[in-house]
Amino acid sequence: MSCRFVTGFGVLLLLGACTHTKDAAIRTTGSRPLSEVARSLGLTVRPTGFAEDRLLVHRDGRSFYVMAGKHYYRFMGDRKQLPGAEVIQVTRSDLLLPSELVAALRRDLDGSRSQSAESSTQPAQTADAKPPRLGGLTVVIDAGHGGTDPGAIYGGIHEKAVVLAVALATIRKLKALGVQAIPTRTSDTRPSLDARASLANRRKADLFISIHADSASRRSASGVGAFFRADGARGRQSRKLAVAVVDGIVTRTDASNRRARADSRGLRVLRKTHMPAILLEIGFLTNAAERRRLVDARYQERVAQGIVDGIKGYMSRTGTAALRRVGATPPR
Ligand SMILES: [Zn+2]
Repeated sequence: MSCRFVTGFGVLLLLGACTHTKDAAIRTTGSRPLSEVARSLGLTVRPTGFAEDRLLVHRDGRSFYVMAGKHYYRFMGDRKQLPGAEVIQVTRSDLLLPSELVAALRRDLDGSRSQSAESSTQPAQTADAKPPRLGGLTVVIDAGHGGTDPGAIYGGIHEKAVVLAVALATIRKLKALGVQAIPTRTSDTRPSLDARASLANRRKADLFISIHADSASRRSASGVGAFFRADGARGRQSRKLAVAVVDGIVTRTDASNRRARADSRGLRVLRKTHMPAILLEIGFLTNAAERRRLVDARYQERVAQGIVDGIKGYMSRTGTAALRRVGATPPR
């Protein structure tokens, strides 16, 4: 077989082809750094809550999830077996993808593009206008506190106002994607915690996201985190949702990542809801710099977009089957 370089894609495919005809030593040298593969396939590499996992997002919104040491990867949430015996390896700063996997990723991208060739003539718009698997999803967005309960107050800023602005922006963005986004409040009112949870249960929401801002005695504390209730199948999905949404916000805002953590306080909205549910802390009002950002409408838009990205990432990673197992109503 003659080996020559044609294009970026050609190189990758060629390496895949060569490994079938040569020995195991070449198989190893055929592995490619993830960063390089992503560049040539037009994929953006996003960190996840797991050090050895990466989310790869194509410019048109399609995504892969790859995990070091596993014999499978996910494309648009669907589990796919790795083509060869090799698994993804970790180097000091990157992952190494076996060449057979690189070829498979390219086939996935080409295959689904030709399937939807007629409908995706405007690829620049598809990420937002035609997202995968979000249409028909029902999501309750809960702006924390409200009315007589201001939440945290620092520097004259009320938590209830900041989180309402972010919640409303999130709802607007979700609705534009065909998601049935339901607010627990749309103005300065104070629904009870039970009322917020029972609204989500009654409307058979697929996901519940409560938005709060943080405060701490250490004024330098900053960043974005989330709590989930770690109970059974729902807990596992809640954790994945929390990781994805925190990563989404961090990617959009460059805020520091305080990670998703299991709730140890028995937060009522997490305890009383039946679907994957998280409580987000979008930043610290006690940190002067972060407080200034949190009241800025453009920053609030970025946080909202990060929440939407996180929901997209969660759905493309888990798909609707996981929601069905939890007992939440899957998207129609
Ligand atoms: Zn709060």
